[in-house]
Amino acid sequence: MSDTQTVVTIDGPAGAGKSSVARQLAARLGYEFLDTGAMYRCVALAGLRGEVDWSDERDVAELATAHRIQLDGERVWLDDNDVTHEIRATRVTRVVHLAADQPAVRAHLVQLQREAAAGRAIVTEGRDQGTVVFPDADCKIFLTATAEERARRRVEDLKRRGETPTYQDVFNEQNERDRRDETREVGRLVKADDAIQVLTDGMPRTDVVDALERIVLRRLSQE
Ligand code: C5P
Repeated sequence: MSDTQTVVTIDGPAGAGKSSVARQLAARLGYEFLDTGAMYRCVALAGLRGEVDWSDERDVAELATAHRIQLDGERVWLDDNDVTHEIRATRVTRVVHLAADQPAVRAHLVQLQREAAAGRAIVTEGRDQGTVVFPDADCKIFLTATAEERARRRVEDLKRRGETPTYQDVFNEQNERDRRDETREVGRLVKADDAIQVLTDGMPRTDVVDALERIVLRRLSQE
């Protein structure tokens, strides 16, 4: 992007395994890692804690600016609370679209994301990183898997966190989340024209990281 900044974007639907893959890829490359979904989850959690009226656009918009969101390695902080685990709970996942649909929330978080990347080498993951936030990124990846595979992975993930989900509930909620992500007015989930699509069905995570590392190194060597 510039002499001082290198940006790799990883976008894709819910449950494609973006976070863990992007984190490992960043570690291999020696880059910073930015989990932008965690930021939207923080805004959603702030709304739940403050019992915000989600139909009040102004109050929802204010959530993003009224609270301090910090990503520090694997830890996520909302004001002075470590919310690393709490933001992944199903009750947060169920309302996160109410924060993410709000254009003013998005505008504020987009600004924070650009600030986080300024002058750095970074792997950033989300829905709109290659399209809206970093349209000039050095390398763009669209990571996806079939809906069935993604739901299976999410069930396993939730079980590890102590929840007891059914496959059908997770599958239905995921489809609903995909639909919302793909149809929101601002920052909708769509593959950037110049993104490389990687379908991860049946691939062990380390193979996915290997494949992405090859893609990034090839792309950067062409610049
Ligand atoms: O990736 P994760 O599931 O943690 O993201 C939580 C939610 O935040 C997603 O369902 C999506 O609606 C929203 N999101 C977004 N734009 C991003 C990252 C996440 O709208 N860049």
